[in-house]
Amino acid sequence: MFDIQEIRSQFSILDREVNGKPLVYLDNAATSQKPNSVLEVCHAYYTELNANVHRGIHTLSQLATEEMELSRRKIQKFINAEHDFEVIFTKGTTEGINLIAYILTQKLQKDDEIIISYLEHHSNIVPWQMLCERTGARLRVIPIDENGVLQLDYLDQYLSEKTKVVSVNQVSNALGIVNPIEEIIAKTRKNSDAYIVIDGAQSAPHFDIDVQKMDCDFFVFSGHKMYAPMGTGILYGKCEILEALPPFHGGGEMIATCSFEGTTYAGLPFKYEAGTPNVGGNIALGAAVDFMNRVGHENIQNHENALLEYAQRQLLEIEGLKVYGEKAKRTGVVSFNLEGVGIASDVGMILDKMGIAVRTGHHCTQPIMSFFNIAGTVRASFAVYNTFEEIDRLVEGVKKAQRMLG
Ligand SMILES: *Cc1c(COP(=O)(O)O)cnc(C)c1O
Repeated sequence: MFDIQEIRSQFSILDREVNGKPLVYLDNAATSQKPNSVLEVCHAYYTELNANVHRGIHTLSQLATEEMELSRRKIQKFINAEHDFEVIFTKGTTEGINLIAYILTQKLQKDDEIIISYLEHHSNIVPWQMLCERTGARLRVIPIDENGVLQLDYLDQYLSEKTKVVSVNQVSNALGIVNPIEEIIAKTRKNSDAYIVIDGAQSAPHFDIDVQKMDCDFFVFSGHKMYAPMGTGILYGKCEILEALPPFHGGGEMIATCSFEGTTYAGLPFKYEAGTPNVGGNIALGAAVDFMNRVGHENIQNHENALLEYAQRQLLEIEGLKVYGEKAKRTGVVSFNLEGVGIASDVGMILDKMGIAVRTGHHCTQPIMSFFNIAGTVRASFAVYNTFEEIDRLVEGVKKAQRMLG
């Protein structure tokens, strides 16, 4: 049974008011709220368990280590990785992609190619540009059509023996568009030896993830967008690939032996986890996975899809409102503008006065904004705790903004 009030009761922050109105939190694509079960795990960690992991023989260190490794196995199951040591703790998607781009440096040469898409977040653009600068490789970008849909015939054209990396997101954060990654991965495997990187920042909170079935080489996501604390994230990499590539950061935890003559590296996953990790946060990420499992992935998807459909239908009834990617397959996000209202942030400010939190601006995706020839959009994004009444309030707020600004 899916009981929305019971779910909402697990998120204390949803009871607060903003500007004298009950909070309507629709900025989940930027970060989700955290259920009390996750907050309690954070609190319990610091009140009962805090110790550095993997080093100590004392009891607290062992307990903290066990809890963090248990969390790793929960995440392994969550994404269906073959081995728990393929699951690397990071501080988020940005760090994950930077890590991959860094460790691939030696694998690229001048005139090699990296394929990304027009729909990428800046954190799936800039690390590859930096890799291009280091190596002389070139970036190729799969274009979109006026619905925001990737034009995959360009991928066919671009793929060649020069292609060394294909990195795309599964779901676009700016528009919520669900990309056909199965097809992208199949085409890439068939026509190149490229490493395949999937940015799952916006898919892990909404979909069942199966990295084995997907057959990607890397899959990265952020904990804070899926009910876990800030500063948590995961890099999944295929065992053979991670074993063959060099480390990223050097330091404690990641060595087997260290002397001034030279150092040997630890095995996976520790080779990629130099330094003291965010132990409490990593344990709480496991609790966030527990929360999602309790609610049920199918329930989460069904509810969020119903919210999106309802929101889009209501919003499109407003004259002069344009939804970007209206006709594309989407999840979790509706991104729009009002005709004649120059600046999305004006709408956002009026909504905020009504207690409604949305994001306005370019959403770290300036190329998409350039494509549509706009400075930004108003973006409402959904999580499992949002309600149809909240969407009614959003629609009412947008109408009010239109009256005030039009
Ligand atoms: C949020 C986001 C990122 C960056 O994630 P951080 O948690 O800020 O590191 C990358 N890609 C997509 C699609 C995102 O939504």
